[in-house]
Amino acid sequence: MTHLAPNGPRLTNNSVCSARGHISQIDAQVGGCEEKNWRVRFYFNAVTHYATTVDDLVKARGRTSKKEYQSLVARSEKARIDSEAARLELERHTQEHGC
Ligand SMILES: [Zn+2]
Repeated sequence: MTHLAPNGPRLTNNSVCSARGHISQIDAQVGGCEEKNWRVRFYFNAVTHYATTVDDLVKARGRTSKKEYQSLVARSEKARIDSEAARLELERHTQEHGC
C-alpha cells in the first residue's frame, strides 16, 4: 500500500513536517503545513497521472494488440493504486498532525 511512483517523494517519515527543502515559497503560502502542501501536490500529480493512463486506455481500445492493451490496463491499475496510496497518506497525515 505504501508503494509509490519511483520519482515521487519518499513517504517514510510521517511526523516531521519541516525537513522538506524542495517546497517552494508559493506552496508554503498555501497553508501552514509544508508536509501537507507537498502531500496534496503529490496526490494531485498521482491522480492526474492516473487520469492520463485511463485516457490512454480509452484511446487504445480496439486499436492496439491485446498484449499492448493489457499492458496499459496494468499501468492504469498501478497508477490507481498509487493515487489511492497518496490519498491515504495525505489523510493519515492530516489526522495525525491536525493540520
Ligand atoms: Zn501537517
